[in-house]
Amino acid sequence: MSEVQDTIELAKRRGFFWQSSSIYGGTSGFYTYGPLGTLMKRNIVQAWVNSYITIGALIVDSPVITQEEVFRASGHLERFNDLIYECPSCGSKQKLETLLKNSGSGIPKDAVQGNALIQEKSLKCPVCGSDKIRALEFNTMFALSNSKTGEGRLFLRPETAQGIFVDFPLLLKQNRDKLPLVVIQVGKGFRNEVAPRNAIIRLREFSMGEVEVFFDPNTTPFVPEKDQEEIVFVPKRSPEYRGTASGALDSGVISNPGMAYFIQKTHMLLAGMGVDKDRLRFRQHRDDELSHYSSECWDAEALLDDEWTEIVGIADRGTYDLTRHQSFSGKSMQVKVDGKEFVPRVIEPAHGIDRILMSILVHSRNISEDGYTKLSLRKEISPYKLAVFPLFKKDGLSEVAREIFSRYSKADPFCVYDEAGSIGKRYARQDEAGTPYCVTVDYQTKEDHTVTVRERDTGKQIRLAIDDLVAHPITTNPAVTSAFALP
Ligand code: AMP
Repeated sequence: MSEVQDTIELAKRRGFFWQSSSIYGGTSGFYTYGPLGTLMKRNIVQAWVNSYITIGALIVDSPVITQEEVFRASGHLERFNDLIYECPSCGSKQKLETLLKNSGSGIPKDAVQGNALIQEKSLKCPVCGSDKIRALEFNTMFALSNSKTGEGRLFLRPETAQGIFVDFPLLLKQNRDKLPLVVIQVGKGFRNEVAPRNAIIRLREFSMGEVEVFFDPNTTPFVPEKDQEEIVFVPKRSPEYRGTASGALDSGVISNPGMAYFIQKTHMLLAGMGVDKDRLRFRQHRDDELSHYSSECWDAEALLDDEWTEIVGIADRGTYDLTRHQSFSGKSMQVKVDGKEFVPRVIEPAHGIDRILMSILVHSRNISEDGYTKLSLRKEISPYKLAVFPLFKKDGLSEVAREIFSRYSKADPFCVYDEAGSIGKRYARQDEAGTPYCVTVDYQTKEDHTVTVRERDTGKQIRLAIDDLVAHPITTNPAVTSAFALP
């Protein structure tokens, strides 16, 4: 089985995520996060928020339901389309791009070009073999059917970004009318994907963390740091380049310092959260892949099975969105600096939280020859940091363990108690859940008030006094961190 499918099974078994409403058969593209997944996702979001708040970002939370005018101005109503093919014989639908994958041709721009290509290449339905397939454009926004009369149509947002653009003048004020202005937002995005797949990799409702960076196009407020880590770049026209972000900028692989800075920042963030650096690259979009709003885009891609999957898109949106909202709303989106008025330029790193979570899970799996699975999650990302067990339920060990659990939980609530099944089974459960430490209460505990602390990745154990254990969260406990070198 593939590592993605194995991970999806593990995720369901351990409670990271599963298909929603499965008692009714479920609907493709909708997933529920279980107890472990919800905590892990929160940790990812927190790490992401922290990394932007530290550079002065403002955070907002705008509505999911958005009025039609916004998407008319942003171009989504007209152009947020998937070019698909439909088979009149068997009814199957797919992205046309999928059918063209190995045909060596570029991606057609619209249905007219798509149908011409279907004719030229004599493409057939891959399901039933019919030669009657036809291309059509399918708008992937969800429209709500119960808008109030006279209100105009309402849509579920396909990206969080527009909630930031429409409030740019208010946000600029919050930034004391100064550029650069960095605004972040995390929340749900909705896209009526034609072919949802691979659980949380392609959803119809998913979580995004978007960053809109507004700056004066004549300045370079963001420049990559020198001597940072090597990154793999796949430019659209030149061969693969391995080097630092500042090296890529100096050698012309990336033309824009802001783009180089945010690629570097994204690389550090993803690697720091546990995406494997050897299975991470930045690929520049070809011209025929660019969204209607961007002039340049680099995707952070993670290798999952043997497929490079986009997990973050870093786009140069230029002045597109603000200029459009200015002309559609009649409200100024200009900034005045030194007597000069202009519409700021925007770079947007857009993070797919679900895909980042999936990449971390896939890349963290360590499987021994006998099939024993550990999830080597970074301690900041793991759902729980500690599990407390009594060696046996009898002889008063449960009571002691419960008391330790209760005292420790005051220092760190992300702790679980487990006394079900053999101690080996309990270790195995926590190893698969990615819990970095387990504490076991045994007979010696009753004599000398110490417990065993076991570290997940090495299986190494130390003895620690109960009073020392409960005094700190385990991940920052000096006695623990000095004994184990965990990532
Ligand atoms: P985009 O605005 O298309 O660049 O999307 C931003 C990020 O959201 C992408 O890099 C993906 O990680 C994520 N994403 C986009 N579409 C989906 C989807 N259907 N399901 C899950 N994640 C998605």
